[in-house]
Parts: sequence; structure tokens; C-alpha cells
Amino acid sequence: MSDEVVFRAKGLTKVYQTGEVEVRALDGVDLEITRGEFIVLLGASGSGKSTLLNILGGLDTPSSGEVSFEGEVLSSADESALTAYRREHVGFVFQFYNLIPSLTVRENVALVTDIVAQPMPVDEAIDRVGLTPRRDHFPAQLSGGEQQRVAIARAIAKRPDVLLCDEPTGALDYQTGKLVLEVIARINVEIGTTVIVITHNASIARMADRVLYLGDGRLQRVERNPQKVSPSELSW
Ligand code: ADP
Ligand code: MG
Repeated sequence: MSDEVVFRAKGLTKVYQTGEVEVRALDGVDLEITRGEFIVLLGASGSGKSTLLNILGGLDTPSSGEVSFEGEVLSSADESALTAYRREHVGFVFQFYNLIPSLTVRENVALVTDIVAQPMPVDEAIDRVGLTPRRDHFPAQLSGGEQQRVAIARAIAKRPDVLLCDEPTGALDYQTGKLVLEVIARINVEIGTTVIVITHNASIARMADRVLYLGDGRLQRVERNPQKVSPSELSW
């Protein structure tokens, strides 16, 4: 991990106006995230976790405040600049895998490598999530955890600078969720990708560099993990 700041947010605020009701999903978040960090984002439902992740990933824009990626200001970028930012720099993993059912594992991953400049070879991406024996299978032939690992392979195949994961274990049982998080932690350690994960699976905290706690749209607490445990050291 270097000291280079990847994300810098200042006074980040997001207000949703629904009829008469105003919701402050984010309320003045200040944040710096360093290249290669592994960040876990925790907080109650509705605390603003997804809103923060979506703004960092260029899927959404703040109502006020500023956010930048490698010095490029995202908060004032237009839609086409945000699209280019997402395509070139960001890998997303969501709770639902969004795989194409009629395509095999290899074909699902290849869809992404076809549209970026310097992708990882498809088979390498699949190998990094431990699915080489399953690469010619269709999504319906895989378990939920395996399908999520395909989604991770697809996200890393474009060699993103940052991997943003919004409740990647949300649809999985605890043990399967741990395995998926281990795969994500391994990507962070082996490739050095900056990773932000939203998850309720407590097993992840020991692998994180920092745990950020959101509450009511504010950063309540930040815990630094002085003894980050590498995935292979965990006795799961
Ligand atoms: P979390 O991911 O921590 O559960 P979210 O970031 O999804 O929280 O939501 C934070 C708050 O913003 C919640 O009160 C939610 O209802 C509200 N919110 C999120 N998205 C929208 C939206 N598109 N329109 C209106 N309110 C929203
Ligand atoms: Mg959410």
C-alpha cells in the first residue's frame, strides 16, 4: 500500500427529495482512501452506505460537497465523463450477480474484456476466483457463491483501479459469504486493487485495513486494523 490518495471526499452530501419529504442520505462526509487499501463499510440499513459507494463509483452525484478520484473531480463531471471513469477505473460487484444466463462463465467474463484497453486474460480472471474447473458451465449450473465469484472475475478482468462491492454476500449464507470475501481479499493482496466492501459479514473485519462506520449519513467512526490478516492466514 502506498500513501497515494485515490479518493478524496469533502463535505459530501446527498439529499433526496421525495414529494414533501427530504432525506439526507449523506450528510457531510470527509474521507480519504489510499491506493491499495482494503476498506470495509459498515452501518445500519439506510445509513447511506450504498449512496456513498455509488458516488465514489460514478453511478450517482452528490447534492453538495466534492469528491475526486486521483485528482479528477467527479462531483462536477458530466455523464459522459462519469461513464468513461466507470469503464476505465471501476469494477462493481453487487448483491445480485447479473450474469447472462445464456452465456458460459468464460463468455460472461469475456463480455467485459472486449470493451477495455488492457484486460486481464479471461482464464486468469477465472483462475483468480478459483473457478477454472467450471469455466464452461452456465450460471444456472453454479451455486450462488460460484455465481458471485464469476461476477468478481468479470469485475477484475478489466484490471480496475478500484473494486466496489455493495453487499456481495447479501444473498449468501454465512460460510459461502466468507469464501466470497476471501476471494475479494485475495484480489486486494495479490493485485493491489483498492477495495471497498459493504457487508454485514463480520468475518471480513480482520482482513480490512480500515473499517468505516456510517450512521445517519455521517462517518461515525473509523477503525484502523494494525494487524491486517491475509486471506491465507485465516483459519476458516
Ligand atoms: P444503505 O445502503 O446504508 O442501506 P442507502 O444509501 O441506500 O443506505 O440509503 C440512505 C438513505 O437514502 C435511506 O433513507 C434511503 O431510503 C434513502 N434513499 C436512497 N436512495 C434513494 C432514492 N433514489 N430516492 C429517495 N431516497 C433514497
Ligand atoms: Mg445499501
